[in-house]
Amino acid sequence: MDFRFTEEEEAFRKEVRDFIRESLPPDWLGVDPGPEEESREEIYPLALEMWRKLGSKGWIGMSWPKEYGGQGASLMKETILAEELSHRGVPGVDVAQAHGEIILMFGTEEQKQRFLPPITSGEVKYTIGMSEPNAGSDLFALQLRAVEEADCFVLNGQQIWTSGIPHAAWCMLYARTDPDAPKKSLGISVFLVDPKSSGITMRQITQMTGLAPFSEVFYDNVRVPKENLLGEKNGGRAVTMYAFGAERSYGLFVLHNARRYFEQLVQYCK
Ligand SMILES: Cc1cc2nc3c(=O)[nH]c(=O)nc-3n(C[C@H](O)[C@H](O)[C@H](O)COP(=O)(O)OP(=O)(O)OC[C@H]3O[C@@H](n4cnc5c(N)ncnc54)[C@H](O)[C@@H]3O)c2cc1C
Repeated sequence: MDFRFTEEEEAFRKEVRDFIRESLPPDWLGVDPGPEEESREEIYPLALEMWRKLGSKGWIGMSWPKEYGGQGASLMKETILAEELSHRGVPGVDVAQAHGEIILMFGTEEQKQRFLPPITSGEVKYTIGMSEPNAGSDLFALQLRAVEEADCFVLNGQQIWTSGIPHAAWCMLYARTDPDAPKKSLGISVFLVDPKSSGITMRQITQMTGLAPFSEVFYDNVRVPKENLLGEKNGGRAVTMYAFGAERSYGLFVLHNARRYFEQLVQYCK
């Protein structure tokens, strides 16, 4: 097996490097992947601009089918892009791409048409609505309730550690739809919730660093249209397991982020 990159892949890597060099300030040191750095006021405008630029290059969800705004590109090209973005610590790379993967897997045709193109064009940012004060590692202990009514689901409860929700267009939210299910993992459903919906209150959590990347979010009779249910009602366990793969498998980002730190350390020592 030949592990070398093809000429086309090497040319793509060069294109990405040139783009990054032209788009970032010459003295750019890089930011970590994740919400903390981007919550700095001086970085956020650049983060937003970079996300939009990546969208206009066709580099968000580039392996997705063309009918949803993707390029039908190879996984290898997407990997090269991720390597270069994380190595230079490009700000703005958003969890929306991971959420798009989940919508591709579980969404209806209408949901794919509605939610994916705004992601690939870099117009929207997403957030994850999973953690609660008593449901972290043990996510299936979550208590936020979603009660089905004629035309919607009504949410009541509290979440915490919701990253970047003040800037997010959508929150992929996990809620309990059947409190009597034989196993707690079986009574959960997933929704796409507009954070500007009536009944949502956010309280940003300021950390020791002075940054406030996370929020506590309170849901008080929030009405979510039925067409925003992702996957089957009470079928949230499958979505959750897939979501962990899509959202948390950013080891590549962490690895190349660490490579940048190592190179900067060597440079400093010299
Ligand atoms: C950078 C960052 C961004 C985040 N963004 C979001 C977000 O956008 N949306 C969101 O919903 N959440 C977010 N979170 C929250 C995150 O998902 C939770 O912190 C995580 O699920 C762990 O939950 P917890 O903090 O309640 O810790 P706990 O579950 O209380 O765990 C605390 C410690 O106990 C250990 N532990 C727990 N259970 C056991 C057990 N049974 N046996 C042995 N050890 C155990 C854990 O390994 C850990 O070391 C974010 C967290 C971070 C750090």
